[in-house]
Amino acid sequence: MPRPILATLHTSALQHNLKRCRQCVPDTKIWAVIKANAYGHGIDRVFEWLRSADGFAVLDLHEAKWVRSLGWRGPILLLEGIFEPQDLELCSQLNVWHTVHCNTQIDMLASHKTKVPHRVFLKMNSGMNRLGFTPECYRAAWTRLGALSQVDEISLMTHFSRADDECGITEQKHVFDHITQDLPGERSLFNSAATLRYGTLLNTASGDWIRPGIMLYGSSPDHPVHNRADWNLQPVMTLSSKIIATQTLRKGDGVGYGAAFVATQPMHIGCVACGYADGYPRHSPTGTPVLVAGHRTRLIGRVSMDMMAVDLTDLPVSGMTVGVGSEVTLWGQACNGALLDIDEVAHSAGTLGYELMCALAQRVPVQLKYDTAPLQPVRFLNA
Ligand SMILES: *Cc1c(COP(=O)(O)O)cnc(C)c1O
Repeated sequence: MPRPILATLHTSALQHNLKRCRQCVPDTKIWAVIKANAYGHGIDRVFEWLRSADGFAVLDLHEAKWVRSLGWRGPILLLEGIFEPQDLELCSQLNVWHTVHCNTQIDMLASHKTKVPHRVFLKMNSGMNRLGFTPECYRAAWTRLGALSQVDEISLMTHFSRADDECGITEQKHVFDHITQDLPGERSLFNSAATLRYGTLLNTASGDWIRPGIMLYGSSPDHPVHNRADWNLQPVMTLSSKIIATQTLRKGDGVGYGAAFVATQPMHIGCVACGYADGYPRHSPTGTPVLVAGHRTRLIGRVSMDMMAVDLTDLPVSGMTVGVGSEVTLWGQACNGALLDIDEVAHSAGTLGYELMCALAQRVPVQLKYDTAPLQPVRFLNA
């Protein structure tokens, strides 16, 4: 019998979330961001359900090649651009558009021999201070690029550092709009947080392509201010497993490594076939929510490599039996329809839904689920 852990991807949720992007900003084109192997979901698994996007944004040429091999003939954007001169040859062959964020990349383009001019996205550092030309240097870079025969159309882009918090995008957007106001070319500014929170601020002068990532996968970019349901997103990934053993504790008994949890009363606990080697965060403390047979309970003690313990003391509820073989939902949707947001688990572990998705381990089997009806949240009295 295979180990019971499983990641299930809900394909209808991908389609729903992509539709939500279009609702937020009806008149822009969408780069579906599928870097980091589609945020851990698998590029090949999500591709079919996101192909009504206008383009795919990736991190490196390996991912670009992969998307082409799946049959995508539309636009592909390298979010960090090229890393070395040889990359330009592959960009030509694969017809990949690339970000240009520094003079070294312009130098590489200037000495590149190509028959086909390249479509580039010139990146401004409007305040993030990661990649891009400063506002002062931006126009000079634009002029230099424009003079190259190796360059076709130049689009303009920037990235927001605080779209998800109370600071918002006003300042950075103002800098970008001010510097670029009379420059021709398409614009790309908005990530998921900006799309959901400031979609109405997008006009044709400020954005022709949005770049949503996390929202496509059904996680809220500004959790806990807004949760997934607030944004009407549906969770794509369910991580589930089963209880493989149970223990009865007396008062004073410890659980797991370091006896990090000690029972203060008699308890009934379950051992779940899921640990940090599956991608579950090791730093999740006692109390992190988990669903057993679709009912909410809590993690107890330290998460170990292959296992973790959950509290079954107050289960079963209403005559239902819980024990070895019971379904455990680490995040996503339980068989009874109950939902546990990945963001809630991440928050409890001091991280983000992004990190948990990306960390899903290779050893976890993944299955696609072709839901027909959209997921409906189910309310439970004990939830
Ligand atoms: C990752 C990334 C995105 C997508 O961000 P989300 O917060 O996942 O929507 C957009 N633009 C750039 C440049 C990125 O690196």
